Amino acid sequence: MTAETKLALLGQAAQYDLCASCGTHAKRTLDDIGRWIYPAVMPDGKRINLLKVLQTNVCDQNCYYCANRCGRDIPRTSLLPEELARSFDLLQRSGRASGLFLSSGLCGNAGRATERMLATVELLRKRYEYRGYIHFKLLPGVDDALIECALRVAQRVSINLEAPNDARLHALSGTKHFIDDLLAPLRRAHQLRQELGAAVSMTTQLVVGGADESDREILSTASTLYRQLSLARTYYSAFQPVPDTPLENHPPTPAWREHRLYQADFLLRCYGFQFHELVFDRHELLPRATDPKTAWALAHPERFPMEVNRAEESELLRVPGIGPISARRLSAWRRKGAIRELTQLELAGADANRAAPFILLNGHSPSRQLPLWEQSALE
Ligand code: SF4
Repeated sequence: MTAETKLALLGQAAQYDLCASCGTHAKRTLDDIGRWIYPAVMPDGKRINLLKVLQTNVCDQNCYYCANRCGRDIPRTSLLPEELARSFDLLQRSGRASGLFLSSGLCGNAGRATERMLATVELLRKRYEYRGYIHFKLLPGVDDALIECALRVAQRVSINLEAPNDARLHALSGTKHFIDDLLAPLRRAHQLRQELGAAVSMTTQLVVGGADESDREILSTASTLYRQLSLARTYYSAFQPVPDTPLENHPPTPAWREHRLYQADFLLRCYGFQFHELVFDRHELLPRATDPKTAWALAHPERFPMEVNRAEESELLRVPGIGPISARRLSAWRRKGAIRELTQLELAGADANRAAPFILLNGHSPSRQLPLWEQSALE
């Protein structure tokens, strides 16, 4: 098998891993010769084309949902570090990829697989003098010395927790241990990056719905990780059954659930919300009919209507339709004169229709009002 063919196969095998805001495989651009390249947004807002690839799809683990699990009858291959480094170098020199996301199946122990990935990155950094973005996936159970090596060569490292806790992970994997294999290396990576002073961001990914877990469990874990480990992002991947796996008959998770989780996650990371403030339904799921911020606002009528000209910027962030940028602009603009019209909210970048039922403009309810029941239709 040529390196080109291997790259296509191992790019396809990496499609289920989310990273760097590159979203799902629906957003990928399939390069003319079958490489898997994704548009991605970096933490600084810069857009790059990211090659996502596995070093190998040979795996002796049996995660019940995974297309690459052992025993599944699929073509298997591995890229030598030289092959992968050379292929990526050609891609990035031709302008088709400007970042690398590198993961791997787990064959033997985590150490050997990680060493092959590190050898690839070392070649890229030293022989090919590549200085760009690398997201390095830490494998379950990897030891401290290799975590430290990864922190020295990558801009981002991550470990997929897959499930929010040990009990739920049992429904997804018969071989991974939540605390020892996943959470401990993630904690250790955080400690080491602090000790090294390494400017490396960290993320994780959770499979949504595969273990019948609730949104409350998922977001409780995510908020704890944000607080304790300063994770940059948690990615949520709606479970989709893969043929010829133990979970092939498990129902798929609807896209709206993943979307609601991302909305709630934004409230935790960017809007000053605490986990305990999130609103869940009787099944411990985020409501389907209303976005999480509107659900919170409707549960707190005592906070509204909010006077846009007097509210603190942090309070404006609580208004449906007003985000961090529009809250900042409105705070600045009102120092030069009162905000009186919904059009001023629109100019600030807010969704004025969503905000209207929850605000006062200079003491008055906005004349243009959208019924609350239509709010969800605006998302
Ligand atoms: S360790 Fe589990 S999730 Fe990762 S490739 Fe192997 S079977 Fe798939």
